[in-house]
Amino acid sequence: DALDARTREMVDRRARLLGPAYRLFYANPVEFAHAEGVMMYDSDGNEYLDAYNNVVSVGHCHPHVNAAVKAQMDKLCTHTRYMQDGILDYAEMLLDTFEKDIAHVMFTCTGSEANDLALRMAKYHTGNEGIIVTSEAYHGNSELTSGFSPSMGENSRLGTWVRRVPAPDTYRVAAENMGEWLAAHVAEQIHDLQRRGQGLAAFVADSLFSSDGIFANDPELLTPVLKVVRDAGGIFVADEVQCGFARTGSDMWGYQRHRVVPEIVTMGKPMGNGYPVAGIAVQSHICEAFGHDMRYFNTFGGNTVAMAAARATLEVIQNENLMENARKTGAVLMEGLRDLAKADARIGDVRGTGLYMGVEMVKDRATRDPDSALALALVNEMRARRVLISATAANANVLKIRPQLCFSTDHADRFLTELKGALASVTT
Ligand code: PMP
Repeated sequence: DALDARTREMVDRRARLLGPAYRLFYANPVEFAHAEGVMMYDSDGNEYLDAYNNVVSVGHCHPHVNAAVKAQMDKLCTHTRYMQDGILDYAEMLLDTFEKDIAHVMFTCTGSEANDLALRMAKYHTGNEGIIVTSEAYHGNSELTSGFSPSMGENSRLGTWVRRVPAPDTYRVAAENMGEWLAAHVAEQIHDLQRRGQGLAAFVADSLFSSDGIFANDPELLTPVLKVVRDAGGIFVADEVQCGFARTGSDMWGYQRHRVVPEIVTMGKPMGNGYPVAGIAVQSHICEAFGHDMRYFNTFGGNTVAMAAARATLEVIQNENLMENARKTGAVLMEGLRDLAKADARIGDVRGTGLYMGVEMVKDRATRDPDSALALALVNEMRARRVLISATAANANVLKIRPQLCFSTDHADRFLTELKGALASVTT
């Protein structure tokens, strides 16, 4: 094969040691040695433009976050059973970003744990079992959360208490009112849950529908859906692991674009700019009984270093006006992508908000037949041009463009130049 000897050796060693469940990106996998801002460097010193990693959301190795983590690590790393100001100061900062009904925050280490805790609370509060998600949703890797993550693959084992609704696919669904359309699907599944005596505990959604194919175009969508959910006694869990922390460019949280207030918000990925920090924000009446009847302790969740990382990350988002930057750079990127689409019929649709874009590749604009092979070829061609992206949706035919929030308009220009070149050279 075309891999050089060192890459081949690492790929084999990895398979031997880590087993078959781990997947690598790219036909020609890449090893990174270090990174800074929006740039990554491979072991030969080549520079790559990172337009994908939303974990190090304020920029790779941000000095303010790294200094805070190092200082706290040198001073004290301990858990939430001792009193600390750090967790309280951060809790106040974080709660300030939410509507006033959302009054408590609790901390975990991963987004999966956050969704797991949210669902335990939802079930306890409602006394119901059922969970409704979109058809290609991803909400986590634990036994509970993988049970409502259909995007884990054809063999994913969905819970018997899980129902799926189609994503609000504005490219393929010609509904006059997308919110009413989705609400009708949700109502149908609620009816089925009730018929089987399970009832609805929660509707769980990522308001950008990331793994369904990135559907950001209809920000009024959730109001009618949540009416149906609440009428059935269920709650709304907003999974903000991907779309939170200013990603949309217009609001701190993705759900805020829809002008609704969730009972529980879950968050993770970008929260500590790479340090594992995640958590939930919750309305008091939802966690009331749960908190009285049960205890919650998470050894690493909310530890002093995690809180230092999270606080420093939020400070950077606010002090460097990264939401505004996401909006501004996102608009440039969107315009450039739309220009590319005008000149290339293989691009069926361009959508997104802030610094989260989807570019849908199709075999034919009339039939909208997904072109997975083309999307894959483009992702690999971009890697060859040293630009990092990926693909998403059921058919993996939607280019996923999700750079760090500090991506500048110059970076956007460089990105667009390379994508134009990639489109010209890939002829699948
Ligand atoms: N929810 C969403 C929307 C996610 O994208 C992810 C991670 N891809 C998770 C939850 C799970 O987060 P983690 O990998 O930190 O457990």
